[in-house]
Amino acid sequence: MPQPSSADQAYPASSVDWISKLISFDTTSRLSNLDLIDFIRAYLEQQGLQCVLTHDRSGKKANLFATIPSATGATTGGIVLSGHTDVVPVDGQAWTTDPFVASIRDGRLYGRGACDMKGFVGVTLQLVPMMIGARLAHPVHLAYSYDEEVGCVGAPGMIEDLVKRGVNPSACVVGEPTSMRTIVAHKGINAYRCRVHGHAAHSSLTNRGLNAIEYAARIICMIRDIADSHKADGPFDEAFDVPYTTVQASMIRGGIALNTVPDLCEFEFEYRNLPDTSSEEILRRIQAYIDQDVVPRMKSENAAGRVEIEQLAKSPGLDVAEKEAITQLVRALTNDYEVRKVAYGTEAGLFQKAGVPAVICGPGNIEQAHRPDEYVALDQIAQCEKFLTALIRGQTPNGV
Ligand SMILES: [Zn+2]
Repeated sequence: MPQPSSADQAYPASSVDWISKLISFDTTSRLSNLDLIDFIRAYLEQQGLQCVLTHDRSGKKANLFATIPSATGATTGGIVLSGHTDVVPVDGQAWTTDPFVASIRDGRLYGRGACDMKGFVGVTLQLVPMMIGARLAHPVHLAYSYDEEVGCVGAPGMIEDLVKRGVNPSACVVGEPTSMRTIVAHKGINAYRCRVHGHAAHSSLTNRGLNAIEYAARIICMIRDIADSHKADGPFDEAFDVPYTTVQASMIRGGIALNTVPDLCEFEFEYRNLPDTSSEEILRRIQAYIDQDVVPRMKSENAAGRVEIEQLAKSPGLDVAEKEAITQLVRALTNDYEVRKVAYGTEAGLFQKAGVPAVICGPGNIEQAHRPDEYVALDQIAQCEKFLTALIRGQTPNGV
């Protein structure tokens, strides 16, 4: 029997079908996203588009970038529609139905990623044939990244590649769930792992060991002090729901037994800085405390004492100007003129840093993201289709 060629493959026929198909790929950030990427690539290639993949170091994850050229064949300039392909884990969550099998109930489409953000990605894929037939004045680019949920780890490689290839987009819309409202700013995200090295000994001989947990605790308390000072003294930007920079330790591991002085304690911390404040300042304060206070005290107990900090993720904040054409266009299309700034990070800050003004607007409510029984309302999908259709048609000479 001949194998069906990709031309024979049946692809989803509606946005809801597309989103359901995307949900069926378990693309939890710790797993490969290549099955999903291959599926999208085969579809886009069948439509006659070229895809550029940029992989992570392991080769198990990829970003996909594809361009729908303008009517004259131009592939530079134009608007990027950007979304991530990974989803957060479902571990420990009580789901009513299988999170990787989409189901529709009460006007909502349920499934992991339905709202964050396979909803937007599915709508963009559904609109590809329309974009191809629209005789665009400027190209439209599709940008699907990996590992957004662990701190926008995938998108930088894709953006670097765009810059290198001179794609030079003039604007970007990131479709994170905003209930189809216009978001013009978000905080930066900075995530680090801290490893505190002590020295093991029997618990009865604490004087011969160096307790890594105790020194990690000191650093964590100092991180909390920084958080408290931001909360009390600012700087503040009241347009954010949490109007100051937040800082916290969020994971910790240390020790092997009650009767052993722990020789290692690892913890992770993160901070989300207001976009117009320095993201380096907080790390500098923590590092100075470690170098000037913690490590000298550790070494005075035992020469083995040392502390390492490793950066896990770093993604700049977003603060796009009102005067940018994309801000005005998205505001007009959503009829939303309120200035809204959010605490979650997206690749929009990375695009902005690369000189591409970016706005966030996508279907679904962010409060549904990351939760059991995540869903996107069907009317949000319809609104997103309408929005993107108008955005794309706005790119054609006569708006047709
Ligand atoms: Zn997201």
